Amino acid sequence: MSDCIFCKIANGEIPSNTVYEDDQIICFHDADPQAPVHVLIIPKKHIPSLDEVKEEDKELLGTIMLKVQDLAKDLGLDNGYRLVNNCGEDGFQTVKHLHFHLLGKRKMTWPPG
Ligand code: 5GP
Ligand code: ZN
Repeated sequence: MSDCIFCKIANGEIPSNTVYEDDQIICFHDADPQAPVHVLIIPKKHIPSLDEVKEEDKELLGTIMLKVQDLAKDLGLDNGYRLVNNCGEDGFQTVKHLHFHLLGKRKMTWPPG
């Protein structure tokens, strides 16, 4: 997707503060952090949202979920963390490229606003 900001981050066109990258995913610090640690985990493949994940993306999704615990260790989130996916209009998704927010180093509240 030529006009997608996260595709541009994934292909290096736009720089990011990257914490992990491989051929399938890239993880980088959010530009507007909502917690002392706020990292975005995205597939390099353009998938618009969680609602548009396909059967063929099953393994990719599993890879992303398993990466969370590695990142949490690397980022020192020893006391827990929150993983968030905003999906669609009501979910307040602003970037239409699938991503998960990994937030930590502060006590989260529940329910979300
Ligand atoms: P959403 O609301 O779609 O779940 O979250 C999008 C997130 O992407 C927001 O937290 C926003 O701060 C972050 N973001 C948007 N553009 C950029 C960018 O160019 N670089 C980085 N690092 N984060 C971005
Ligand atoms: Zn994209």
